[in-house]
Amino acid sequence: MSKDKKHKSIHKLFPVIKVLFSTAGKKYPWFFVFEALKTLVQVAQPFVGILVTPLIIDELITTRNVKTLISYVAILVVGEFVLIIFSSRLDTVLNKYQERMNNYFTMQLGLHSMSLDFQLTEDKDALDQLEKARTGMTWYSGGAYGIAEQIFMFLGNVLKITGLVTIITMHAPLLLIVILVYIVLNGFTTAKRNKYELQAYNRLSGINRLFGYFGWRIVDFRYGKDIRLYGAREMMVNRWKKNTDESIANWKWQADKVYPCALLFELFFLLRTLITYFYSGLLVIRRVFSIGIFTQMISAAGALDATLGGLVWNIQELLKRCNYAYEYVLFMEYPEALPKGKEMIDNKDYKIEFRNVSFAYPGTDKKVLDGVNITIEPGEHLSIVGLNGAGKTTFIKLLCRLYDPTEGEILLDGRNIKEYDYKEYMAQFAPVFQDFKLFGFKISENITIKENDGKDLKDLVKLTNLEEFVEKLEKGLDTRIFKIFEEDGVEPSGGEQQKIAIARALYKNAPVVILDEPTAALDPMAEYEIYRQFHTLVGDKTAFYISHRLSSCRFCDRIAVFSEGKIEEYGNHNELVNKPNGIYAKMFEAQAQYYR
Ligand code: ADP
Repeated sequence: MSKDKKHKSIHKLFPVIKVLFSTAGKKYPWFFVFEALKTLVQVAQPFVGILVTPLIIDELITTRNVKTLISYVAILVVGEFVLIIFSSRLDTVLNKYQERMNNYFTMQLGLHSMSLDFQLTEDKDALDQLEKARTGMTWYSGGAYGIAEQIFMFLGNVLKITGLVTIITMHAPLLLIVILVYIVLNGFTTAKRNKYELQAYNRLSGINRLFGYFGWRIVDFRYGKDIRLYGAREMMVNRWKKNTDESIANWKWQADKVYPCALLFELFFLLRTLITYFYSGLLVIRRVFSIGIFTQMISAAGALDATLGGLVWNIQELLKRCNYAYEYVLFMEYPEALPKGKEMIDNKDYKIEFRNVSFAYPGTDKKVLDGVNITIEPGEHLSIVGLNGAGKTTFIKLLCRLYDPTEGEILLDGRNIKEYDYKEYMAQFAPVFQDFKLFGFKISENITIKENDGKDLKDLVKLTNLEEFVEKLEKGLDTRIFKIFEEDGVEPSGGEQQKIAIARALYKNAPVVILDEPTAALDPMAEYEIYRQFHTLVGDKTAFYISHRLSSCRFCDRIAVFSEGKIEEYGNHNELVNKPNGIYAKMFEAQAQYYR
């Protein structure tokens, strides 16, 4: 790892800890209590032996009092036993938290994705970030649980080291220097070893890719014809062999380079052990301490260098995990795409106005809407027509503030829509988009978007012509849509799905209703029926209709004809149909042929 990268990892550590711990802390405070307890138990475990064994040895050598001996042994055995039981009990409890916490964080990701500004759902960077956050919070980092474990392990290691250093300092402080030198020397050999391993690994990934190509891709039958007809088999086998030789050579290179490091590592360990025994032994001979303390020094020194090694691994692991989990923090703090206002909408009888609105989708230059001017009076029913790609749906997306105009402004009740509270603004619209989605919930829940017994939906079902469909179902409105959750879920036809989506829009009872070609899956007669009824249903609400079938435009007060991002014609059906050479007149004539 380069210095720069390490630096960056450290910078990620604190934001990750802050976000993960505050999120998990609110939901699962007891997890932290249990983790702390487990850490204390784990720290205590080795100390029972280190502290009590010397007492037993010294007692055996000196006074040999049976009662005292029994009590020491009892402390040793019972102490270790209690700690082991406690530790395994805590492990069971903590395992349950692991599952729960992982699910909870996955849910947070889902909730955040649903509340992101819509345009980010089509933004490559935001989508990438979501993917990175998702993978970053799984086994790469172990999630909040895995990171918390590493942090508690770190704290535990620090506590353990403090205890061991204290014990050694009390009797043989010089030993600390020996251990320190040993750790530094080991650091060098390990770093060298890691360097060689990384070099070999980097080379191996190239070799492996080729190996994969020769080994797997060419056995794919699709290559069969060319291999046979051009006699490529021999060439392939030779390449494969060459590649295998390279791979073996690389392993050999790594083994040769790593071997001296491994040897040095063992040598340092031997020296460290030798010096520890020699020095502690000398202190026993000089009667500085007892044989009991001698064993204590030996085991404390061993435990100390193991713990120091553990601490180094622990820090590396923590930084690595935080590096991955940081993607989650980035996603959760992903900047908003749209500025949000605070104004509320009190007057529900408002006018909507597009003033010189132009729009290009983020990351593109093409003006999909170009200088659109239109005013929709309260209660007006506007029909929007035009060829595919004319910008009709985009117009609706801007109206619903899924995107903001690149130029110009949209006003509601005389105020720029950016000034309104976003939720409040969203509550004004009940759209049925072309690509509307139903959820794998009950039919009634799909309409009301809350848990519902469907009792208050009878009239709506009738109005939207869903009656026949619902009556056929054994569970009626309680039937689940799709078979995701239940075997007996229903797969409604395209037309039935649209009716459910329309019922959902009507149930929302918002001041503005939008139908974006929702009837594409219906036959012309059924569509005619829906539009006719819809006008009655929508009543004096403001309504926008996009349709390819101009027969439905007759019901609207005004028609706006979109062409290449501009409103080319505007008026009522009679005005437009009689316009010489008009786009609408031509479209109407072309369609009328089919119905005559
Ligand atoms: P209509 O509803 O009239 O068929 P749209 O408003 O859906 O037309 O599309 C207008 C233009 O904008 C089309 O050229 C379409 O390809 C483009 N467009 C639509 N959605 C996106 C998007 N998310 N990103 C980029 N371009 C888009």
